[in-house]
Formats: sequence, structure tokens, C-alpha cells
Amino acid sequence: MYLGEEKTVIFDEGVINVFKFFRQTGKKSEMGGILLGKIVGNKIYVLKASIPTPFDKSSRFSFNRHKKSAQLFIDYEFLNSNGTIIYIGEWHTHPESNPTPSGPDLRMNKNQFKENIINEDFLLMVIIGLKSNFVAHYDGTKISELKLKSD
Ligand SMILES: [Zn+2]
Repeated sequence: MYLGEEKTVIFDEGVINVFKFFRQTGKKSEMGGILLGKIVGNKIYVLKASIPTPFDKSSRFSFNRHKKSAQLFIDYEFLNSNGTIIYIGEWHTHPESNPTPSGPDLRMNKNQFKENIINEDFLLMVIIGLKSNFVAHYDGTKISELKLKSD
């Protein structure tokens, strides 16, 4: 569980397992995908994380996900949940212990917020590091980091 001033983010165990699996240990490339879930009041439940596809472009220090594959995943889960599971953000890995967003990450975040028909008035930004993860929500202007709280 990650706590912020305005919101709480709760990751499903399956999502945490995806993060762990792709954690950028050794010489692995950056990996990433999208996050789907539900919003109830100020709680964000992250229920699904898409896994990288062969169409994504990635290197040790960059990741660009394939748009169409991600859209398919969004549409599929939306239909299968009768419209209750929606797109809520993005995740990717960094080869650093305690990650922070890079310049390209911030630009991507901004574009993503503008381009997408956002279901909610924010976008969740998750960066998986080697020791800790960076979790924040972005409202189009401000990035608010949330802090890990064990429950
Ligand atoms: Zn990054």
C-alpha cells in the first residue's frame, strides 16, 4: 500500500509479482506496461499490469511501449469486467536502487495524459527500482509521490 496526501494506492498481489519478475537486475533491459484497476473514493486499486510485448522498444536505459498492444489489453480487460476495470497508468523499470522519473519519463507522462482519454483526472506513474519503487500520481501539472506503508 502506498499513501499520499490525497490518494492511497493498493497493488494486487498479481501486479506485485509482475513488478518483481521484471525488476531490472543483472543486465536486463528496461521493461514496462500499463496499469489497470478500479477507483473507489480516494483509493486506487491496481488490479492488472500488462507485461512487456515483443513490439515494445527497450534498452538498458529506455523503454517505449507499443501503443496498439497496450490498447488491446485495455479493451480486453474493459470488456471482460463489464467496464469496471479501466486504464489508470503506466509502469516501467529502472536499473537503479531507488528510482526517480527521468526527463523522458516526465515528457511521456505529460503526453500520455494529454493523448489519452483519461478515465480519471490523474495518471498513476510507477517505476520499479532494485530496492524501492517510485509511485506517484500526476494530475496534468503536478506529480505527487506516495510513500510505501506496510499493512
Ligand atoms: Zn524511466
